[in-house]
Amino acid sequence: MNVMLPATTNASPVLTDSYWQAIVQNDERHDGEFFYSVKTTNIFCRPSCKSRVPNRKNVRLFTTVQHAMQAGFQACKRCCPDQLQSPQEQWVEEIVQLIDQYFWDDLKLEELSRLASGSPFHLQRSFRHMKGYTPAQYVQTVRIREAEKLLLTTTQSVSQIGMQVGLDNPSYFATLFKQKTGFTPTAYRQQHLTSVQNEAAR
Ligand SMILES: [Zn+2]
Repeated sequence: MNVMLPATTNASPVLTDSYWQAIVQNDERHDGEFFYSVKTTNIFCRPSCKSRVPNRKNVRLFTTVQHAMQAGFQACKRCCPDQLQSPQEQWVEEIVQLIDQYFWDDLKLEELSRLASGSPFHLQRSFRHMKGYTPAQYVQTVRIREAEKLLLTTTQSVSQIGMQVGLDNPSYFATLFKQKTGFTPTAYRQQHLTSVQNEAAR
């Protein structure tokens, strides 16, 4: 399979051969990645649409439904790009939910892809494409968010909290936490608890 250029960086990506092949082959793996419009019919479709293969010179690409509509194209009645989520979009949403639920566990890409029934490569690629960050980055974000909450709402020790959010190594937890919030867990707790208390005293 050809590697596509990242389409998210541009509202109207260039119609390269790999995009064109996805359209010709109705390749649903690319649903959600981009949409294509056809000048002669004035409609736009998902890559997987089974409508007749258009003339390549009339095709224009879009990264979002909004962009296609703003350019004056109407959603195809057959593949309904404006209504349903593509299988790929649904799949990525499923993965987000899995991470939200199991962030505390030792979530490896392999494990995630097994839970979501897909290949690790496909998972990494689709997720990154749609979200702009990798599943691993999202796992860390959720962990730190949860740790912030626990620091302010419980009296558990920093290392207990680290363990609870799936970051068992205290020094790694502290480093990552500082990277994301600008504070060590201990400083974060002191700083924010004090300001919360001041707020309440006022
Ligand atoms: Zn269509």
